[in-house]
Amino acid sequence: MIEIKNISKTFHQEKQSFKALDEVSLNIEQGDIVGIIGFSGAGKSTLIRSVNLLEKPDQGQIIINGKDLTTLNNRELARERKKIGMIFQHFNLLSSRTVFDNVALPLELDNTSKSEIAEKVNQLLKVVGLEDKAKDYPKSLSGGQKQRVAIARALANDPYLLLCDEATSALDPVTTQSILQLLKDINQRLKITILLITHEMDVIKAICNHVAVIDKGKLIAKGTLEEIVSNKENPIIKQFIIPKTATIPQSLSSQLQPELSVGLFPLLE
Ligand code: ADP
Repeated sequence: MIEIKNISKTFHQEKQSFKALDEVSLNIEQGDIVGIIGFSGAGKSTLIRSVNLLEKPDQGQIIINGKDLTTLNNRELARERKKIGMIFQHFNLLSSRTVFDNVALPLELDNTSKSEIAEKVNQLLKVVGLEDKAKDYPKSLSGGQKQRVAIARALANDPYLLLCDEATSALDPVTTQSILQLLKDINQRLKITILLITHEMDVIKAICNHVAVIDKGKLIAKGTLEEIVSNKENPIIKQFIIPKTATIPQSLSSQLQPELSVGLFPLLE
């Protein structure tokens, strides 16, 4: 469904240039939760930002449902981007807008009617468990609540794909668990494919059914976690992946506190 085909990206700064992505190819099936893991500076953000062309690759194609996004004009691309939600490490909420108005923003930009906006936003706030926070401002929310608002906003245009850029890196372990559970529920109940980047193995273990390992701009391994860890010859996997999988006996999802994972989808039950 999503084909990342042979993409490369070089950044040029003054007299220096840096190849952040080097002929990366990756296929993502509909309904997958794919984790991209690697050291800081490996190229993870550049890769995820290339999928919706926030970063335009120098070469290669991004083919989604048979359409090559790199060939679209700005108007066509804007239409495609609406169906790709994105969430970030630091939430990127607008501090001057209430929770309701933050979630409503993509719908306002789309000229949706006020009554439809109200219905949709209230539904989304229930999905993320924040229906009682509609009138609050971001500064009064916890980190986890802010990320829930950002997730609701990312769902506003009914995306088929959610891109998560270190979505839990700024959160404590318990809040991380609840956000991962929410993402898993969204994937399963709303059938949204998720592509996430992380440098934490516990995130991969908790929710990803496929993993891609990126190092110095190159995709060095892809497959299920079991397939990845069986590749003991690769020095990055040996140093970075295998020791961390050995220290995590259970997936986080099996340790989730029950109260964190119930009642997230009252409208859909
Ligand atoms: P990661 O997400 O794995 O930490 P990034 O994709 O953010 O890595 O960055 C990969 C490399 O590309 C880094 O060396 C970074 O400094 C460089 N880079 C990323 N974005 C830019 C940019 N806009 N201009 C110049 N260099 C960049």
